[in-house]
Order: sequence, then structure tokens, then C-alpha cells
Amino acid sequence: MTATVSDRLLDWYDGHARDLPWRARPGAPPPDPYRVWLSEIMLQQTTVAAVKPYFETFVSRWPTVEELAAAPQEDIMAAWAGLGYYSRARNLVKCAGEVAQRGGFPMTEGELRELPGLGAYTAAAVAAIAFDRRAVVVDANVERVVARLFAIEDPLPVARKAIRAAAAEITPEKRAGDFAQAMMDLGSGICTTRDPKCLLCPLSADCRARATGDPARFPVKAPKKAKPVRQGRAYWIERENAVWLVRREGKGMLGGMRALPDDGWSARGDGLGEPPLDGDWEGAGMVRHTFTHFALELSVQVQRDATQPSGEGEWWPLDTLNEAGLPTLFTKAARLVTS
Ligand code: SF4
Repeated sequence: MTATVSDRLLDWYDGHARDLPWRARPGAPPPDPYRVWLSEIMLQQTTVAAVKPYFETFVSRWPTVEELAAAPQEDIMAAWAGLGYYSRARNLVKCAGEVAQRGGFPMTEGELRELPGLGAYTAAAVAAIAFDRRAVVVDANVERVVARLFAIEDPLPVARKAIRAAAAEITPEKRAGDFAQAMMDLGSGICTTRDPKCLLCPLSADCRARATGDPARFPVKAPKKAKPVRQGRAYWIERENAVWLVRREGKGMLGGMRALPDDGWSARGDGLGEPPLDGDWEGAGMVRHTFTHFALELSVQVQRDATQPSGEGEWWPLDTLNEAGLPTLFTKAARLVTS
């Protein structure tokens, strides 16, 4: 089955590869590792459509990893705003620094794995796509395709070990980068979560899940646990057409980002802190936002014609608020007050 599956898939990829700004055409020399790495970090937990404009902005502002490494961290964090999962941006900065210092990206999966922010998946993807090394690349798309090809009955996450072993079985020695990207394309365009298009699939003859008549049942999922819901408050402090913004502490949720002051909510508990100013607060409504491990209900409190809050912060003009690089949560809060 090994040769057959990868040959069939690569043939299909030669005619159907998605054209993406960080990619080389099938069979062409590999793309710049900087572009591969940047796209893979951006794509973690985000869609291709959401990533494209961010990717274009980053590579036109910082065309090389050295230029990215030399950029002020605030600029990078602000350019990242809206992509979410801000620890990725902090690791991006750290990793760019290390790579620039060592004079380029390492080529092996093992060495790539040692760079900040590169987990097993990203290290394998960069090794395969940028350096054409044989590496077993398993993201959520590949996981789904492989679970179906082999009709793996164990539920996730227990099934991951079996999925990885099965993926290793079908990964070819040559064109490992194209193979990885072909699997991703198959997963995102044909072998989709709810509605796999088996009639268009180059692997339909190999697929055991298809033979069961209900391929969408795979990968089998363990029942979901509900996410905890945390309560918090954010404070909109306005004076003379400007709003008071603070910078969040470097570590923790949304660390290093500009933000509205809040009451210290976190993944572990509700916010209990005091408001940053005395006086009367008016409720502007509630913003709901879902993070990886919890949901947040953020009540937005407003004071206009406010006095100067104590502590560090800055008055940001309301008419350029979209340039402040606020994370999505606080953009939602600002919209609530200003719309
Ligand atoms: S035959 Fe259907 S279920 Fe199997 S890999 Fe192809 S699209 Fe997915």
C-alpha cells in the first residue's frame, strides 16, 4: 500500500495543489525556509484565509528572518494583533533572534525542534517542506485523512499514536515536502470534516473508512468536556477623544499586548481586582470570547470625562484606535462602546 498511496497522492497534487503565497509549485525547488516557518507558525489553529493577509504584511515589512529579528517587539506584536494565540508571536520573535544569530535555519527535524515555538508538527513540516527531508508531518487535516484511510477506531487523543505510525507507513522517502502539503490539501479540500468528497478523492480505492459507508465518523472523538466560563471586567476610560490603554504583563494571557485595563481575570479564575479609578461606572454590555481552555464573559465598564488613572498607560486617540494593535477580545469591547 505504501508506494501506491503516496504515488497516487503526489500525482493528484501535481494537478491540484493550492497556490499559496508561502509555497513552491509541486516538484519545484523548496521555498525559502523563513516563509515556510512563518506560515506554519501563523497557521497553527488559524485558517489559510485568515493567515494570507498577515503573511503578506509580514514578508513585505520584514522580508528576511534577520529583518524580523531586528524589528522592535511591539511592532511585531501589533502586526500580529487579531491572529490570536499571542504566545506564538512572542516565540516568533525569540525564534527569529536565534535563527539570525546562528546564520540561518537548521535543516534537520531534531535541530528545528530545539527552536522556540517549534513543536513536533512544525519542526517536521519545516524539515519536509523547506528542506525536503523525510519527516512525518501530522496536523489536524492529516490526522483526519489518515484516521479514515486506515479506519482507526480508537478515539482521539488516544488514536494519535496509531495515526502517527500509519502516517509514517505511507510517507515516501522522496518528495516528502510535496507529500505533506498534498495531505494537507486533501484534508482541507476533499477529505473535509463533515462532508468528505470520496468520489473526487485520489485515495478512495485505498480508504477503509469509505468502505464502511460512513467515513465522516472518523477520526472517532471522545465526548467533549465543557469549557469553564470565567467572568471579568474591562474598563473603558475616556477623556478628550482618547482612551486609556495599558500594556499587559509579558507573560500570561495576551502578554505584551496593548489592552484596556481589567480586573485580573485569567484562565484559572474570575477577575477580582479593583477598578483603576474611583467614581461611577456605566455598564456598556458584555463581550463573550472563547480561548483555548476557557470562555470569558467580559463586562465592559465605562467612564467618560475621566480623571488620570494611576499606574503606567497611555491616552490613545479614538480615531486611530484600529492602529493600537488591540487583541480581538479588546477590539470587541471597544466596538461595544464606540458603535
Ligand atoms: S475516500 Fe473519502 S474518506 Fe477516504 S480519504 Fe478519500 S475523501 Fe477521505
